[in-house]
Amino acid sequence: MRGLAAGILVWVAFGWSAGAHEAARNPRLMDFPATASGGLILPVDLHTHSVFSDGSVWPDIRVQEAKRDGLTAMAVTEHIEYQPHAADIPHPDRNRSFKLASDVAKSDVLIIAGAEITRDMPPGHINAVFITDANALKVDNVEVAIRTANAQGGFLFWNHPYWHRQSPDGIARLNPLQERLIAARLLHGVEVANGEDYSESALRIALDNNLAILGTSDIHGLIDWDFDVANGGHRAVTLVLAPTRTPAAIRDTLRAGRTVAWFKQTLIGRPAHVEEVVRASLSLEAGDVVEKSRVLAIKLKNASPVRYTLRLKAPQAFYNMGDVVVVPPYGEVALQVTGGVTPQTLQLDFEVLNSITAPKQTLSLTLKPKAG
Ligand SMILES: [Zn+2]
Ligand SMILES: [Zn+2]
Repeated sequence: MRGLAAGILVWVAFGWSAGAHEAARNPRLMDFPATASGGLILPVDLHTHSVFSDGSVWPDIRVQEAKRDGLTAMAVTEHIEYQPHAADIPHPDRNRSFKLASDVAKSDVLIIAGAEITRDMPPGHINAVFITDANALKVDNVEVAIRTANAQGGFLFWNHPYWHRQSPDGIARLNPLQERLIAARLLHGVEVANGEDYSESALRIALDNNLAILGTSDIHGLIDWDFDVANGGHRAVTLVLAPTRTPAAIRDTLRAGRTVAWFKQTLIGRPAHVEEVVRASLSLEAGDVVEKSRVLAIKLKNASPVRYTLRLKAPQAFYNMGDVVVVPPYGEVALQVTGGVTPQTLQLDFEVLNSITAPKQTLSLTLKPKAG
């Protein structure tokens, strides 16, 4: 309570009235601000199931969940080969699930046609999205299915490559078939996060082979239950750093590998891409010097749905907090900085603890108040 009272005094003293805040935003909505260069950060889920393969819900529920999460796009990716509900729900037309989802989505969520090519290792499970006809992938030879999906303009990626049922030690390793597919540009991305799982060996493969870094829900049950949304959880998604909000721009951006996976609040991607997301999210505002001192009050604001955990680096230090700062989604933190810095000299060097830019590596960056 003492801390709270002190906080209120600081706000009043510097004229930052609580009443000036926007109404609290729904933290569930994945609404990312534009980047400094005007680019978009689009949350997409490229891996979902319904009763038309081994999922537990009708496709319209998938669409409603996507709307609640504020997804820009969702791919419908039923298993081609694995059809455990076939006795109850015969599935002769493999485009049916996509059609049902598209009919209810209207313009709220882009529905992307896809399929999960579901094979033993190698090559394991491969999602093809932005395809035009899933029925054409029902063929015996997996390489024919992969080439057909590519011929339809598909974006293809390796699903859960670390999966312990196909890699018992939980480590992802490329096999010769996949190496051939990558060399021939028939495989374009890899899941580093799928549902509840993260794989640094998959991230290593993505970085070493110039593949898009992806996070997906691979949802079969309900998003709210599997990801504990009521308690601040979120589905794993891919943030696509696209110039515009169109299917063509999303596909081209995926192919260019301009992506960040967002998984359990952690941003996983190449350093420049993670930095784009962090800089779009966070801003620093200098306030006034605390009366009769050289301690500077500042605010750290977060315009994104990500919960950031930052560690301040030497030689800077806070007056009212330790080195680790949590900045809540669509929220802000009031801080005081020691050492006699001024609004003109203010800069903070942070390690973004909720980031992974390579196995066991995090992003570091310097924040300064926006000019003007
Ligand atoms: Zn799978
Ligand atoms: Zn799946």
